[in-house]
Amino acid sequence: MKREKSEFPEPQDAQARRKIRPVICYPTDSLEPPDLESYRAARAGWRKVDEVIVPPRDARCFHVPAGSFFRIVSVEGPQVGDLNLWAADDIDERFFSGKTRALHGTHLSTGDRLWSSLPYLRPMATITQDTLDWYGFDEWGGSVHDVIGTRCDPYTHRLLSGHDYHYCCHSNLTRALAHRLGRPLAAVEPAVHDVLNVFMCTGFTRDTGQYFMKASPVRPGDFLEFFAEIDLLGGLSACPGGDCSTEHSSDLATCHPLLVEIFRPQAPPKGWRSPPRNAYAGGHGEAPPATAAADPSS
Ligand SMILES: [Zn+2]
Repeated sequence: MKREKSEFPEPQDAQARRKIRPVICYPTDSLEPPDLESYRAARAGWRKVDEVIVPPRDARCFHVPAGSFFRIVSVEGPQVGDLNLWAADDIDERFFSGKTRALHGTHLSTGDRLWSSLPYLRPMATITQDTLDWYGFDEWGGSVHDVIGTRCDPYTHRLLSGHDYHYCCHSNLTRALAHRLGRPLAAVEPAVHDVLNVFMCTGFTRDTGQYFMKASPVRPGDFLEFFAEIDLLGGLSACPGGDCSTEHSSDLATCHPLLVEIFRPQAPPKGWRSPPRNAYAGGHGEAPPATAAADPSS
């Protein structure tokens, strides 16, 4: 947060320094763009193979095989969802919200990818359709589906209010993952991670740089569609903030369920291959181990 008045005087060339043009930190021109046409074509004749209702102020896990699609659908009323993704066979590999933000920006839409944590760093899913892409950025700099928030959690709530609330997205996702894997809450809690805030409308205030939220523009029937690049275990929480127009971390907001639908195409998208894990070998600058000297007796 910026102070109202600086302790330090501006240098004479302050304006000139402010006028320096920004450069994009991570230009993505070197990445092969997703072939959205072939993803779209793969929808023809697809079959819905599963669906999961996520109750309000709760979360559910779901499995999406590599090469299938899933949709998060608004039903009944405006509702925000907090999405976690793990590699289905290894929950150490999980969605990396921060690097996804660095690569694609603060808010995601069609054609953006959800990248996995280090050392895996590969696309876990690609967004293939977004019925809210008409929203763009509003006059406050707000937009939909952010990767800037973390997830509402009982620790921050306790810190700021002094009270306990047990149905924050972090707790909902922890319970859902524990039930899914048949493991204790404490064993799986560290695997719960920063989310994609599905349908949430957020930004940063221009004057103080604070994270803000406002009523989500989502309406029943809206959906966000993903293609699973690898075998995925998903977790989705229907946030206790409802449409996040006023507050979260309480039972005050009106909440609605969310629907997850899984679709299997007849054939994978043309030319598609499940991405391998990142090619960096993990040397980190250490000298490679000495190779065994050749045995002189042989
Ligand atoms: Zn939440």
